[in-house]
Amino acid sequence: SEESNMIVAVRVRPLNALECTRGQVTNVVQVHGTSNELTVQAGSSADASAGVTHFFSYDQVYYSCDPEKKNYAGQAKVFEGTAGPLIETAFDGYNACLFAYGQTGSGKSYSMMGIEALDDAALDGGPPHDEAGIIPRFCHELFRRIEALKAEQQLQVEVEVSYFEIYNEKIHDLLSVQHASASSVDSTPVQQQRPALKVREHPIFGPYVVDLSAHSVDSYSALRNWLAVGNSQRATASTAMNDKSSRSHSIFNIVLNLTDLSSDDGLSSDTDSESVPSLRQTRRSKISLVDLAGSERISVSGSNGERIREGVSINKSLLTLGKVIAALADGRKAGGGHNGPSTPSTFVPYRESVLTWLLRENLGGNSKTVMLATISPASLHADETLATLRYACKARSIVNRVKVNESPHD
Ligand code: ADP
Ligand code: MG
Repeated sequence: SEESNMIVAVRVRPLNALECTRGQVTNVVQVHGTSNELTVQAGSSADASAGVTHFFSYDQVYYSCDPEKKNYAGQAKVFEGTAGPLIETAFDGYNACLFAYGQTGSGKSYSMMGIEALDDAALDGGPPHDEAGIIPRFCHELFRRIEALKAEQQLQVEVEVSYFEIYNEKIHDLLSVQHASASSVDSTPVQQQRPALKVREHPIFGPYVVDLSAHSVDSYSALRNWLAVGNSQRATASTAMNDKSSRSHSIFNIVLNLTDLSSDDGLSSDTDSESVPSLRQTRRSKISLVDLAGSERISVSGSNGERIREGVSINKSLLTLGKVIAALADGRKAGGGHNGPSTPSTFVPYRESVLTWLLRENLGGNSKTVMLATISPASLHADETLATLRYACKARSIVNRVKVNESPHD
């Protein structure tokens, strides 16, 4: 196995129309040229900290404020730098994860999903349009590669998708509608309130969601249909409950299984002398693309009980994510990390929240992971922006130990 640091990218969205019309709102985030550094001017003129410039450096910085600027990064560029390399990771049999972190309105969903166009040529398997986000682009590229590989070698490919959200520490399947109706030989009404799903531990594959529907897809357009089902499920749920989308985490999973059908002739090009008789190799990769709940602190004052419970739960998953990141970062510092496998000495509280339990392998485990921190450039968000940027700095020191998920079988 090899070690790899979590890749941390930051994306700055443009000021929106409302922010632009407010005279006192200014752009406080500067990205200098194509560097991976940015600065934030904190404090209003009334503050003691006025004029303080904070400096940050990351693996990647995407400036999406002004299309006129030379360093402007649109959807295609963000995809190519962040999720693009994870395609290779998946085909090599490694697990991969990309998660978007930031306050509500900072551009997480725009980055992950982008804007859906109904006239999209992608409905026929064509390429995603200009404003499509990371998920549709990743899926399109995945199938483009599969087709290219199949043309070259005898390959059996299986792609399975699942999509769910975590709200109030409860898991809801976003793709269960057609699943339920397809198997409803009994008279169970589809409208019936479905119970929340549970997390359990698989001895080999680790934590998983019990009874989560998984859907086999053989083309990009088939996959897109499921994505549309999930997105509309999510939208319906959040209209019914005001602002739910900003307080829920959504996780889109792709499992890729590749079996080389040509390697059973005993003439493997591998030089390692394994005593296993030549068998077909299956490489498996699980890719998780995650749109987290808004990272802003949720007010618990002056609300009703439900609201408070909601706030506490959201904080539970996001706070635990923070604790996990902090523990991994500290363990790295304390453990030295240079003498062999460095198990972090600090306790990592993965199981304290549903989110961190499910993302365990992606945080300090067997996965290549990218964090995309999204920020607003507006002066009125400077405090949240600084909080996000500091969080992202911490995440940069996390080390994952990746190994190929390979299993010989016949
Ligand atoms: P979040 O998911 O973090 O709450 P959204 O992705 O919904 O935030 O973004 C809030 C608004 O800003 C949306 O209207 C979105 O279209 C717009 N937006 C976000 N990022 C960008 C960007 N890079 N370029 C253009 N518009 C953006
Ligand atoms: Mg969102």
